[in-house]
Amino acid sequence: MPPLILVDFDDTLVDTGPRFHARREQLFRFLEAEGFSREVSERVHHEVVDQELLDLMGFGPFRLGPSFRDTYVRLCFEAERFPDPGTAREAEALAAGIENPPPLLPGALEALRELTAHRSVGIYTQSHFAEYQLGCVEAAGVLEVVERSQVRITPEKSPDAFREALAHFRVGRAEAAWMVGNSIRSDVNPALAVGAGATWIDTGLTWHHDRARPVHNRFSRATSFPEAVRQLLESAD
Ligand SMILES: [Mg+2]
Repeated sequence: MPPLILVDFDDTLVDTGPRFHARREQLFRFLEAEGFSREVSERVHHEVVDQELLDLMGFGPFRLGPSFRDTYVRLCFEAERFPDPGTAREAEALAAGIENPPPLLPGALEALRELTAHRSVGIYTQSHFAEYQLGCVEAAGVLEVVERSQVRITPEKSPDAFREALAHFRVGRAEAAWMVGNSIRSDVNPALAVGAGATWIDTGLTWHHDRARPVHNRFSRATSFPEAVRQLLESAD
């Protein structure tokens, strides 16, 4: 059994993505009422505006409002309409409050506590805003279960970043680590690429940016973090 289990945070321990998804749904309905088809709004938002702002602002809640405003403005220019400043502000306001800390998923903290009782555990989470992300980790109660030194916040989750995390957690061989997370792109693939094991938590809702094919198919699957923990604790001892 691997001596170190790395656990993702967003949409593994806390409910992040569905809140973003709900706000984007609100935006697309708002834009429909403004006369823009959903298909065109989704394309402009996902493929143009969000890609630009991801490069500029990275992951996290802070680009959501600007991306809503920019999507409206860009749609107007594509349709050769003059953007209405008030409508642009209304679009941006649909994202208000998204920066509040995300709530825990059912049973997640209890499962994390159970895991730490039996295994060495690190939190491995992605954000361009380390201070904000640590605040979310703390607000979720995770620091009551896992030491601050066992929380690793990285601006990106690549194979190289995963190797750096293993060095941070003093794991000499990648085979001695196991990643648990909801993203094939960000959690499963970097772990598999360097030779670590992984459990994919399939939440049934994959963010458009997260869609990716696994590096290979030798990884575990679960539908929730508590189920992943049960599997990990049953698989050895
Ligand atoms: Mg995640």
